[in-house]
Amino acid sequence: MALSGLQIFKLLPKTNCKDCGFPTCMAFALQLAAGKAELAQCPHVSDQAAAELGAAAAPPVRKVTVGAGPMAVTVGEETVLYRHEKRFEHPPGFAMLVDDSVDDTRFQELLDTFKAQEFDRVGQVLRARLFALESGDAGRLAARALKAHEETGAGLVLMSSDVGALRAAATPLAASKPLLYAANAGNFDEVSSLAKELAVPFVVQAPSLEELEGLGEKCAVAGLTEVVLDSMPATLGDALRDQTFIRRAAIKKRVRGLGFPTIAFPGRLTDDPLLKPVFASVFVEKYAGIIVLDSLDPAQVLPLLVLCQNIYTDPQRPMQMDQGIYPINDPGRDSPVLITTNFSLTYFTVAGEVEASKVPSWLLVMDSEGMSVLTAWAAGKFVADAIAPFVKKCGIEEKVDHRKIVIPGYAAQISGELETELGDWKVIVGVREAADLPKYLRAFDITTA
Ligand code: SF4
Repeated sequence: MALSGLQIFKLLPKTNCKDCGFPTCMAFALQLAAGKAELAQCPHVSDQAAAELGAAAAPPVRKVTVGAGPMAVTVGEETVLYRHEKRFEHPPGFAMLVDDSVDDTRFQELLDTFKAQEFDRVGQVLRARLFALESGDAGRLAARALKAHEETGAGLVLMSSDVGALRAAATPLAASKPLLYAANAGNFDEVSSLAKELAVPFVVQAPSLEELEGLGEKCAVAGLTEVVLDSMPATLGDALRDQTFIRRAAIKKRVRGLGFPTIAFPGRLTDDPLLKPVFASVFVEKYAGIIVLDSLDPAQVLPLLVLCQNIYTDPQRPMQMDQGIYPINDPGRDSPVLITTNFSLTYFTVAGEVEASKVPSWLLVMDSEGMSVLTAWAAGKFVADAIAPFVKKCGIEEKVDHRKIVIPGYAAQISGELETELGDWKVIVGVREAADLPKYLRAFDITTA
């Protein structure tokens, strides 16, 4: 049972030293009980108290890692229902499903596709990191698991109704933490024992939430924490209801048997290839830990990865670039100088268009606490008396012979004041939309600007 705030408070040092970031031990205790703080934030708690607080300190959704090394996927550890309450901790991991209908030639093609498919967006590499291999043939499952692991390093989801096949495939790869699929009411003891023996995570599945909670509770009682839940929905509506219920039960009610991440199979809910990624997007938002896809078509995968990136960004920490001078297309002393803010999306959009223009340019990126141009201007972060000292001190004056700077069109209001602040610089109002930059820069003449 989870401890109440008062029970936790009794075990804390009660010095109100504030080292945890909360004003009092009681405030910290209440946040810990609500799953919105971590025990590690208090550096003064005794070992004995830490042991007693273990249950309260554990996140309401347990942490599960599938795979090892750079392709490992960690899910769970969630503490909120809605991102704006704090943040979502781990984006779902995407798995590519390969079943017995795929022959060896096609399997090799899929491995090659998997290896090659990754996307670079706003400085982050996005990709599917898991392979889900399904087979009733023990030999084939083991051989394909080994091949997939050796060729891709991907985390594996091993799927079979034959526990012997799971054992044969998982045993040589146990160190790489494959996820066993699945334990149910009929084989729970066998599969959970195998998972415990190999120290690998496993899926628990049941056709109703009551049964699922019962099996999850059995796991919790047995000390098995690396568990993933499958509620076996028949329709998208059922799936959405189950995912929401499981997350709410874990976070709001601290139902231990449902306090695990989930796995979802959008391909089991529709045969329509166009609807499958739409269904998958529902699971990105509500609340799957692992999403098993039937296809790695980039037209389907990239939007899902971008959706994940958008939703799973910490809203309290906007993605930011370092403040500084960014040379693009090998600029020289007569190259144009542009300035923008350090919101990552703004930077990569502007930098991408400048690069596409093929015009050598200097891009000054100013720290605006991760805000876009208009937001930063409205917040007083991208204004003349902040920009001028940055331009003067950033070192651009040593890199160019001219004194002309292009500001974003959306910041046109500050041009006069900025020119006054900068003194010897001429301020030029550029385009509003980054998409117009290539045409603008190709026509830009530093001598007449
Ligand atoms: Fe209390 Fe620990 Fe927070 Fe200090 S760091 S206020 S002792 S909970």
